[in-house]
Amino acid sequence: MRILIANDDGYLAPGLAALVKACEGLGELDVVAPEQNASGTSNSLTLNRPLTVHTASNGFLYVNGTPSDCVHLALTGVLPNRPDLVVSGINNGANMGDDTLYSGTVAAAMEGYLFGIPAIAFSQVDKGWQHLDAAARTARDVIERVLPSLRERPGPWLLNINIPNRDDAPRLPRVVTRLGRRHASEPVIRQVNPRGETIYWIGPAGSAREAGEGTDFFAASQGRVSITPLQVDLTDHAALPDWQRLLVTSA
Ligand code: MN
Repeated sequence: MRILIANDDGYLAPGLAALVKACEGLGELDVVAPEQNASGTSNSLTLNRPLTVHTASNGFLYVNGTPSDCVHLALTGVLPNRPDLVVSGINNGANMGDDTLYSGTVAAAMEGYLFGIPAIAFSQVDKGWQHLDAAARTARDVIERVLPSLRERPGPWLLNINIPNRDDAPRLPRVVTRLGRRHASEPVIRQVNPRGETIYWIGPAGSAREAGEGTDFFAASQGRVSITPLQVDLTDHAALPDWQRLLVTSA
């Protein structure tokens, strides 16, 4: 069994080290992670400059690019063997609801999924790495459970898992959830830099708008481990007939 481990917080992040340690003994491990923190870079690939791959003293490979770059390079020539599973994280903070669209943690896992490989993104609900060991034990348990099924279940799948920052995380109830929704982001933050130019910081994410029972937000708020199976199809299937009528079918 080969496991490719990536993240978006960078190759020096405690969450990556914890996830690698959690995977020890489960198979052949390869780690390919961004050189810098690349949170919020979504599925972007670096196409306007070449990328370098360096090896850290602990054996981790690091790339001066995005999380998707890391997994893409790993799967298209940097690694000699194709992994059976791609895992990403453990992220410093939640990736729930609409945030998953911006998440580099989810994107790294999604890159594996797009290459036909089962993949899991792990995040801690709160920032700051509190109880990271417990999150890592939770991740290991999940990975141990899916490993035997990898050869039986054809086709890739993608899980987005958010783990409460608690020392009893491995024993918390687990809920299979759908993504909730957020309100629009808070307003941009405007400042003046030392050269007198106006600069802008993207505002914080909005509060949860759809956080009812069954959502990832609700599960996390109840102190549960949220497990959301994701797919990649942005098509609005229900709207196809309407647009067909309005824009295609002649009057
Ligand atoms: Mn991150």
